Amino acid sequence: MLGLYLHIPFCSAICNYCNFNRGLFDADLKARYVDALVVEIERAGRVRSEGAAVRSADTIYFGGGTPSLLEPSEVGRIIAACRDAFDVSGDAEVTLEANPESVDPRKLAALRNAGVNRLSFGVQSFRDTELRRLSRLHDAARARGAMGEARNAGFENISLDLMMWLPEQRVDEWLSNVDAAIACDPDHLSLYLLEVYPNAPLKDDMARARWSQAPDDDAATMYVTAMERLEAAGYEQYEISNVAKPGRQSRHNLKYWTDGEWFGFGCGAHGTIDGVRTKNVSGIADYIDCIVRGQAVTSDVRRMDADERLGDALFTGLRLVEGLDLDAVQNRYGVDVWRKYGAELARFLEAGVLRRDGRRLALTRSGMLLANEVMTVFV
Ligand code: SF4
Repeated sequence: MLGLYLHIPFCSAICNYCNFNRGLFDADLKARYVDALVVEIERAGRVRSEGAAVRSADTIYFGGGTPSLLEPSEVGRIIAACRDAFDVSGDAEVTLEANPESVDPRKLAALRNAGVNRLSFGVQSFRDTELRRLSRLHDAARARGAMGEARNAGFENISLDLMMWLPEQRVDEWLSNVDAAIACDPDHLSLYLLEVYPNAPLKDDMARARWSQAPDDDAATMYVTAMERLEAAGYEQYEISNVAKPGRQSRHNLKYWTDGEWFGFGCGAHGTIDGVRTKNVSGIADYIDCIVRGQAVTSDVRRMDADERLGDALFTGLRLVEGLDLDAVQNRYGVDVWRKYGAELARFLEAGVLRRDGRRLALTRSGMLLANEVMTVFV
């Protein structure tokens, strides 16, 4: 089954660390963008009316940017366009990323009525000092409030994003964030290490204020201890950065890690269908222009060769805690992973970075911190 990704690139303010494809909110631009997005989805659906097989989808994912800046009626219109263009299953997972300051009880109830059944809140921290350092617009009280309001609005599937290794953050402060998140009882959590990009305003803020990040060993402790604490609270880690209560893994994101297929709609969105990778034009205005002129919105269309598809499947599959099923890879790509890469992988096995159980190959928990090194073997 396909996933449908919809990029909503608007934000109320630009966070000092952000490296996503986004721009400042503008009500008129947003209205024109939603019109364009619906046209792009309809174009994909036109294939259907021309007699090609209807593609089935079981996930819709509004990512951003800040999708919760859309009006619920706009969200409903986009979901309806998806349902017209694709055979979207009745129990599809429909996720919307939301920032805590951009929702209230009325809006959450309307989003639920519009067909959203999973929320992913960008909380990042439950410590106000840290949120201010990241130039986020919400505080911890608003994050907790948004979680409670979402439950009251009928959302039974809620995820939180937290960021670790923040400027000046100590291990115990990070763990207090993890405890605060657990106290909110989300169904799913994503934990990311802060990456300070060379041109991020945060880099200048850190230099001016003489903020630093904790030593690498502390970052490793933050990661491993958080995972242990979450497991003790009933969450299962299923991917390097993601934990969930049983049955609450992100169905959409699993498509990225299990060699799945998805359409990407909106500016800068990526898609992968039938071994062809696409990328849309990044600029919001450029994207709208292409749609208005009846032109293609893709700026890059590339058929991946067999080696690239294999490398990609191995690279992403190894992110999963269950790791790679070597027999499944052999059946799909005709390659014996161990024969092809065994010599290079052996040193990671010896170092305890990888573990091999029969025909499964997976990263150990501490090995997850070195995932990038292992994955260079495949790409
Ligand atoms: S809300 Fe998210 S997408 Fe928007 S600027 Fe902040 S980090 Fe970037």
